[in-house]
Amino acid sequence: MSIERAARLKRMTFAATSRCSCGAGLAYDDTCTAAPFKGPSYWDCSAILLGDAIPSGQPGAVTHTDRLPFAFWEIKSEHQPSARGATTRPAEENN
Ligand SMILES: [Zn+2]
Repeated sequence: MSIERAARLKRMTFAATSRCSCGAGLAYDDTCTAAPFKGPSYWDCSAILLGDAIPSGQPGAVTHTDRLPFAFWEIKSEHQPSARGATTRPAEENN
């Protein structure tokens, strides 16, 4: 795994159990900023955030769940105590 990828994974927060329709966990990057908010404002497919997803229109591309704004979607993150350690973080990349 590249240093950039490892750093990015470390910055990302994954959902405890919620996944994109492609099977990858939902996540957000703690350092991504989208005006007018400071910090991330929506959940997105972790495969898209990591650059693993095949762009739509290309062979093998799959459908992904739309971005889910925090304001409208209550999705439990891996950091919630009530998640009890559950995470959709890729197993081989757990720290
Ligand atoms: Zn996806």
